[in-house]
Amino acid sequence: MVQHTRVAVIGGGVTGCSILYHLARVGWTDITLIERSELTSGSTWHAAGNLFTLTTPSNAQRLHLYTLELYETLERETGQSIGYHPTGGLHLAASSEEIDTLTVLRAQGRRNGIETDWMDLAEVKRIAPIVDTSTLKAVLWEPGKGHIDPSSVTNALANAARACGATILRHCPVTAMRQQANGGWRLETDKGVIEADIVVNAAGLWAREVAALAGIRLPLAPVEHQYLVTESIPEIMELEQELPTISEGEYGFYSRQEGDGLLLGAYEDECRHWALDGTPLDFGHELLQDDISRLEEKLAAVCKRMPPLENAGIKRVVNGPIMFSPDLGPLIGPHPDLKNYFCAVGVMTGFNQAGGIGKVLSEWIIEGEPELDVSFWDVARFESWAGRRYTFERTKYYYEHRDEWPYPHRECPAGREARTFPTYDLQQSLGAVFGVSSGWETPLWYPKEDDSPYDIYSWRRQNWFRTVGDECRTVRQTAGLFEISTFAKYRVTGAKAEAALDRLLAGRLPRESGRMALCPMLSPRGRLIGDFSVGRLANDSFLLFGSGAMHGIHLRWFQQELAGQGVQLDDLTSDWAGLMVCGPNAAAIVGEAMAEGPKPAAMPFMSLAHADFHAAPQAIVARLSFTGESGFEIYTPMAFHRSLFADLLHRGAGFDLRPVGGRALMELRLEKSFPAWGLDLSADYGPAETGLSRFVDWDKADFIGKQAALVVRNEGPREILTTLVVDAKDVDCAGGEPVFQSGEYIGYVSSGGFGHTVNESIALAYLPPDSVIDGANFDVEILGERRSARLSTRPRFDPEGKRMRS
Ligand SMILES: Cc1cc2nc3c(=O)[nH]c(=O)nc-3n(C[C@H](O)[C@H](O)[C@H](O)COP(=O)(O)OP(=O)(O)OC[C@H]3O[C@@H](n4cnc5c(N)ncnc54)[C@H](O)[C@@H]3O)c2cc1C
Repeated sequence: MVQHTRVAVIGGGVTGCSILYHLARVGWTDITLIERSELTSGSTWHAAGNLFTLTTPSNAQRLHLYTLELYETLERETGQSIGYHPTGGLHLAASSEEIDTLTVLRAQGRRNGIETDWMDLAEVKRIAPIVDTSTLKAVLWEPGKGHIDPSSVTNALANAARACGATILRHCPVTAMRQQANGGWRLETDKGVIEADIVVNAAGLWAREVAALAGIRLPLAPVEHQYLVTESIPEIMELEQELPTISEGEYGFYSRQEGDGLLLGAYEDECRHWALDGTPLDFGHELLQDDISRLEEKLAAVCKRMPPLENAGIKRVVNGPIMFSPDLGPLIGPHPDLKNYFCAVGVMTGFNQAGGIGKVLSEWIIEGEPELDVSFWDVARFESWAGRRYTFERTKYYYEHRDEWPYPHRECPAGREARTFPTYDLQQSLGAVFGVSSGWETPLWYPKEDDSPYDIYSWRRQNWFRTVGDECRTVRQTAGLFEISTFAKYRVTGAKAEAALDRLLAGRLPRESGRMALCPMLSPRGRLIGDFSVGRLANDSFLLFGSGAMHGIHLRWFQQELAGQGVQLDDLTSDWAGLMVCGPNAAAIVGEAMAEGPKPAAMPFMSLAHADFHAAPQAIVARLSFTGESGFEIYTPMAFHRSLFADLLHRGAGFDLRPVGGRALMELRLEKSFPAWGLDLSADYGPAETGLSRFVDWDKADFIGKQAALVVRNEGPREILTTLVVDAKDVDCAGGEPVFQSGEYIGYVSSGGFGHTVNESIALAYLPPDSVIDGANFDVEILGERRSARLSTRPRFDPEGKRMRS
């Protein structure tokens, strides 16, 4: 018998049940959850169920908070106990680095209303007498911490969905699936065929196998994780109220009360992957062989911190597999290679994330986009370059470094050289320190002889500060050569290209060939989902340059929105490379390197042209600027990239051209108040909040998101992106810092750094419109200290923009 369902959710763990619940709750009841075995049969049943709210990025924090709110209502709604214990939690800190880390996390929590506080050590001793406070320097109290019963909450979500009319099929493994001509899916199960309009892969430990049924591969690797539960501990038995959860970042342990004993989990120093070649299909309600000796060193340290543990017997050890993604974030949203196929996999802390994922996925399915920006969890952020080695190395690294301090500018050393440009060895020989952007190695800075040739991380200004300052000055005084191949590049051609792009992009397209324009791209809700430099090569041919990190997400959107529009879309991102020459000498250098083409000095700002360089025929040269200086971006097929880089450096030597890294670019753009994608710009905002309204062609008959964006524009935005000059001497804003006016919290910093050529610490911040007054005074909290700041309505460098047009 063939059954039909609107949505088939594959997997009855906490994630699948939450998605089912959220769909059912808003009236989508013709939906089916298909579970291979019993509900909770994957990672869910053996989880520790710990809860926390302080996490990054900010919207992940909001989704954690939402999940906790859901727990509060779920018990009432279902009349079923879910074992929710909002005990609050203690973060122990024994070092100043740990205190700085907690201080930063705490400040970031302000934006979402998370009130945490430092707790007096005597009070810590009172509520958690098992803790030896003698060597602690500080303890942070996080009220949102607690724990939940994993099976109960999963079943409560399932029951609540069922009560709304959703169907749950247990003992019904999906064994095959095929896309049908109408875009729906035909699923084969042990209980017959099910046809579904939309499929959601929420198969947790088997996400890879379920993905393979549809012909896709997901960058996931399961790791073993252990916790233990002790026998009763007298100090806990004597407590009048439940012990708060206790954790210490530096030792990478977490704990909570379980009965009269303690549940204690820790991340071993050495990661042990499990089932790398595939999760066994017959793996059931089972645990893996425990090996407590792997935790010995950590346990010894934890026993010192909580001495009563030394005499406590161990009641049981749980060793279970968890699915990790290469950056530990879940992979959610529509899979870019398939139609009507959503992912909700790689969910590493399901009891904190699943509520939020259920909310987000149901919005995405029903309304076409989620309310919040979740690009940091979007499945499309990893593309085919994120292969097995990359996934293995990154998951291993992150497991083994759970206790690593999340310093600003931190680069993950694992999974490196996943993708390299042909210039890589040349930049290596010039001593570059590299970072990673979408798997590509790209220069961050070029150390000088007396520099340590690597990053030394700190919460304060880092070892590259002075040298990056010199790189910035080089760009302003002579010229800098930047690698910009990480930018995404697309070509849209055809007689209908202009009409299709006019609808897709909110900006004013260049009307003449050879001209460029900045074009924001909006979602139907008027949210900012992209920001492109658009060049017109001919009447029917356009080039789009945008964020490399958003490549997979944008490509998915382009393919959806440009399909059937009669245009040809070519993704040039991996086949074309880019270099940028910026500075007063840039035009002369580009002119020297060009064999045939426009005279660079005569190229108008925001123009582009075909050009033949000595080292690279078939190039496109574009006159743009993200530094505020006269700038030329040169795009070529990848084959010419290496020789062009070498040739530009060679010819530029006489003009004092120096190779410059990405960190300088990010500091220079701050001096111009240019917002950066992913830091200042995201789908949480529209053009009115971000200052991009001026690039929107409001007179166009229509474009995606116009009506919704007009409403915000007419009503006025709640917050506006603006520039602050901060009184900071040894530390600059890194993003997330709270902003106060007359002692009241009023906004937050989205990005910051040092303007080396204006000698000022600069931050871009979202503030209420009525506080945006030139010269107005504020306080910005950096590392727990309030520093005075002054608002500037004009960029700090060359406010008239004369330099970039010169
Ligand atoms: C030791 C340990 C401690 C943990 N502690 C915590 C904690 O304290 N806090 C926290 O938040 N998280 C914790 N976790 C992580 C948490 O368990 C996971 O994040 C969460 O359970 C993931 O849930 P899921 O629904 O995504 O996947 P799963 O629980 O793996 O569920 C997937 C479901 O899909 C079903 N399925 C698979 N293939 C098919 C198919 N072909 N057809 C039909 N059904 C299929 C499976 O049977 C399974 O029921 C812990 C994990 C471990 C191992």
